[in-house]
Amino acid sequence: MRKQVIAGNWKMNKTHTEAEDFIQTAKNEVPSSDQVESVVCAPFPFLQKLVEETKGTSLEIGAQNMHFEESGAFTGEVSPVMLNELGVKYVVLGHSERREIFKETDEEVNKKVHAAFKHDLTPIVCVGESLAQREANQTMDHVENQVKQAFEGLTDEQASKVIVAYEPIWAIGTGRTATSEQANEVCTHIRRVLIDFYGSEVADEVRIQYGGSVKPANVDELLSQSDIDGALVGGASLEADSFLKLVEAGK
Ligand code: PGA
Repeated sequence: MRKQVIAGNWKMNKTHTEAEDFIQTAKNEVPSSDQVESVVCAPFPFLQKLVEETKGTSLEIGAQNMHFEESGAFTGEVSPVMLNELGVKYVVLGHSERREIFKETDEEVNKKVHAAFKHDLTPIVCVGESLAQREANQTMDHVENQVKQAFEGLTDEQASKVIVAYEPIWAIGTGRTATSEQANEVCTHIRRVLIDFYGSEVADEVRIQYGGSVKPANVDELLSQSDIDGALVGGASLEADSFLKLVEAGK
């Protein structure tokens, strides 16, 4: 049985005070971590404070990106060593906004996945097709390709710990959710790809989230699907009430 993982992705939102208010409300309300994993992926400047404030609770803190190098002349970047030192547990990698706006490649995402494991961070690896790719029937090939490249060179043990987030780009922030069948179809395909590479024992352990306009009103239906093991949530994770409803659904 895979444990559901509900992760909020705040993106570049919130002031320090708003972040604090959210955490104060949410930290003692999230269900225990043996029922569901609850994660908030916050902007870098908030991470240290949020990690401190959530110590001893079931709410975990994640980052939204990082560099794959440990240190060096990379102005403006944050290293996996720094995140680990802060006590961050998860890191979102290869989000479509990073791939599209900041031109991150599959090769870089793969290096980041390896760097995450080296520094005890659980990677949440995002994959997903554009609307044009969906309309051209390229969804499965595209997602398969992204998954293969992201997992390249991982050991069985590492592979089993990756969280994959399937996020169709046309459903992100648009209010347009993939139907639960559409979402599950791709998640099942992702698991098949992983079975081919690692065998079913490993592939069965990999959690696959769906992301793209997930909200309290549609989360139950999405999480009830056979290959969906959680959600990566942008807009609906910004308010504590709404985030708490999502994690409740993951129980
Ligand atoms: P959304 O964003 O829930 O606002 O669609 C999801 C994401 O980008 O991770």
